[in-house]
Amino acid sequence: MTSTRLCYDLHSHTVHSDGTLTQEELILRAVNQGVTHLAITDHDTLRAHQTTDAQQLALAQGLNLITGVEVSCAWEEKELHIVGLNLEPNNCALQSALKEQVVQRRERALMIGDKLVKQNVIGARDYIESFADEQVICRTHLSKFLVERHYAKDANQVFKRYLGKGSKSYVKGKWMSLEMAIQHINAARGCAVLAHPGRYGFSRTKLKYVVDAFRALGGQGIEISYPNQKQGEFEYNTRMCQTFGLHASMGSDFHAPRQWMELGRLHPLPKICKPIWELFQS
Ligand code: AMP
Ligand code: MN
Ligand code: MN
Ligand code: MN
Repeated sequence: MTSTRLCYDLHSHTVHSDGTLTQEELILRAVNQGVTHLAITDHDTLRAHQTTDAQQLALAQGLNLITGVEVSCAWEEKELHIVGLNLEPNNCALQSALKEQVVQRRERALMIGDKLVKQNVIGARDYIESFADEQVICRTHLSKFLVERHYAKDANQVFKRYLGKGSKSYVKGKWMSLEMAIQHINAARGCAVLAHPGRYGFSRTKLKYVVDAFRALGGQGIEISYPNQKQGEFEYNTRMCQTFGLHASMGSDFHAPRQWMELGRLHPLPKICKPIWELFQS
């Protein structure tokens, strides 16, 4: 008898937001990497899930494709990312809330464009205006533009000089509240998961406060396993999961093929954690 090892990757991006692969390319890559369960979780859009093409390809390839989205949201002046998993992609309230986020993203990009002009960057506004209305515009797109035009040597430098918090062309996003993000995801029968808790720059005390608020507002899980974790981060996330009675998730946050980053290469969930997929409704 052959046994198939299960391999979950519940956080990934396509060209519908700031990834470089189409959903078909991402699915084939996931299969090649031995992933058995893949969630596509583009920033603020469900477009990868709104045709049956991706599901049909996944089915033919024996991959379990999970619907998902990564929602940027606001909580006490901070920005948090909530991954919605296994939700109904045609839920009207969720769709219209995401549509508004896409509009806000365009407006923010144009404001960033104006600030870039003041920093002597040529052509940023034209570049932003070249995007189709429904395209999710991320700072990643602007970052690539700035590197291609030699205003910086790489994305790290771009975020330091132009796009990151504290830099001259930073514009804060006008996102939906954490409460609304969780409500919309749950109303679409999905699970709400706090993405990459170690990447917000919060102290451990602050992080516990955030996770407590997230749970109180109806959130179901936190990502405990993701790449580039600091020493002790995985163990700390595991403890938070237990302390707050939350379910655990894992995801690569894959955006593009790179040497040091791959789909499905994640530290497995510890046995003491309840996996988020136990909550997936059929
Ligand atoms: P946005 O959602 O438009 O604010 O864009 C945030 C995206 O930018 C993230 O999802 C990452 O993909 C990317 N990003 C954020 N910080 C950095 C950084 N320091 N270097 C490269 N990419 C980054
Ligand atoms: Mn991104
Ligand atoms: Mn994120
Ligand atoms: Mn992401």
